[in-house]
Amino acid sequence: MRLAFTCRKSYKQSFIDGHYANRLIAKSELKREEVGTTCAHCDHQEKKHHKDIYAVADWRILLAGGVLELVLTGVLIYYLGLMWALTFSLPILVWKQQNEKVHQFNLNRIERHVR
Ligand SMILES: [Zn+2]
Repeated sequence: MRLAFTCRKSYKQSFIDGHYANRLIAKSELKREEVGTTCAHCDHQEKKHHKDIYAVADWRILLAGGVLELVLTGVLIYYLGLMWALTFSLPILVWKQQNEKVHQFNLNRIERHVR
């Protein structure tokens, strides 16, 4: 979450930096009326009523989260996919084959024993 305001001069959205945003929250909680802001686009400075300041979802965190998730998913698919093939599928196939052989062997042995 970030705190943003719209510049009265350029009508562009600017953000209040994290350190200041924390102080701003403290200030607005203390019912201080106005907060000094500086527009990032035109350097216009003005006092903003804390009610003119709104919270927006931080797309950087959303993006970072999305990228991290994609990377993590990719890594998991890559490694677990590979690991799955190597550590699960192969032993299962080998075990299945071995089990089949054991089963066949025992079946023949039993049949031979029965005879
Ligand atoms: Zn501006």
